[in-house]
Amino acid sequence: MAKTAFIGLGNMGGGMAANLARAQVSVRAFDLAAAAVERAVAAGCTSAPTAAEAASGAELVITMLPAGAHVRTVMTEAVFPNTAPGALIIDCSTTDVDTAREMAGKAQELGFRFADAPVSGGTAGADGATLTFMVGCEEADLPAIEQALAPMGRAVIRAGGPGTGQAVKICNNMLLGISMLGVCEALNLAEALDLDAERFFEIAAKSSGQCWSLTSYCPVPELVPAAPSNRGFEGGFSTAMMLKDLKLAHEAAQSVHAATALGAHAAEIYEQFAQLGHSAADFSAIVNLVREQSARG
Ligand code: NAD
Repeated sequence: MAKTAFIGLGNMGGGMAANLARAQVSVRAFDLAAAAVERAVAAGCTSAPTAAEAASGAELVITMLPAGAHVRTVMTEAVFPNTAPGALIIDCSTTDVDTAREMAGKAQELGFRFADAPVSGGTAGADGATLTFMVGCEEADLPAIEQALAPMGRAVIRAGGPGTGQAVKICNNMLLGISMLGVCEALNLAEALDLDAERFFEIAAKSSGQCWSLTSYCPVPELVPAAPSNRGFEGGFSTAMMLKDLKLAHEAAQSVHAATALGAHAAEIYEQFAQLGHSAADFSAIVNLVREQSARG
């Protein structure tokens, strides 16, 4: 079993590292937050005092960090200088496409194998090992990547060469940000029209409005038990993270002159919600902004 380092043990990485440990992988774990490292140790990982020491001699390195800037720092300062020759480095964070391509290029120059492998499935998927990995990598590296990611998910899908995993992720999350707003507006309108939320849910879930934001992540509590709306919108996928992804999508769209009017408008709405002090709340809490704006008339 490859000597494995896991760097970034937050809402997502914590559950993923625990699943690797559960699968008998020997994981050396590091995070800047001591509490996150303690949770990983309780789940069966070994703690490393720095990212460099976690990466030292590792044959497999997995990172799950907030954004591209963190990935660049951790790769250039801790991973590339310390990892075992020929190591497989898999970045599961969501970043801009350029970061993924540059890191893949540098890794290749140094003789490492690199994959961008952002995920879908949220914290429930991270905890329950049901994530989908969208992978950008050299085709020849796919079998090793599939094997490394198997204990943490149920689908590993290669999108193409380096950076394409991030391209898929950005498009997917732009769609998610828009669809969540659509679900919030529909639920709010249904209630304003004297429809019971539960009744609307039951019918829309079996009609053409059905989508993941409605039936797997419903922003109204008690309709989907695992949804963050049932626990005060704590944990989950933060509004700040959704805003980050919508901005990445917007920048990418501008760079290739793609029309994304709804994506840009969704970014403005999540930005407004974040500025009202809700950055840490799960993004589905945007239902509260929709309700507030309706109440104001
Ligand atoms: P998080 O903020 O909960 O976790 C990130 C962790 O990285 C934190 O514990 C932080 O202390 C650590 N960190 C930051 N800089 C570090 C460094 N230099 N060295 C070591 N550790 C460092 O974020 P998250 O929700 O776990 O998301 C992680 C990534 O996964 C993001 O890129 C996000 O866009 C993506 N993602 C999140 C979700 C979700 O539902 N939360 C879903 C899909 C993808």
